[in-house]
Amino acid sequence: MEPTPEKNINNEIQPGIITAPFTSEQVEALNFYQQSGVWHPFTCGYPHKGLDFSPTLTAADDGWYCEISGCNYTQNWAHSAMADRKLIEDTKRVFEESAKNAKKLKSF
Ligand SMILES: [Zn+2]
Repeated sequence: MEPTPEKNINNEIQPGIITAPFTSEQVEALNFYQQSGVWHPFTCGYPHKGLDFSPTLTAADDGWYCEISGCNYTQNWAHSAMADRKLIEDTKRVFEESAKNAKKLKSF
């Protein structure tokens, strides 16, 4: 059996990557990321024939789960930035501001 690699102070297994178990703060931020619309969300890695959308994943402390009931796809890692709530909020604000400014420019 492989030894469990040490995690660094940011709970990262390697720079930029965090793995389950996630802390409750990370779970909350990861799910905020998923619905923020700031970046493309993590989606299921299994084919779901007949669906016209890619099912998104929901984070839990032991990893990611597909939103489609009965699908057993799981994933145990995330990009560290996806768990950085402040970064997501700041980026969302920048996007909203630039959308507002674009609307103002169009009205001239
Ligand atoms: Zn799935």
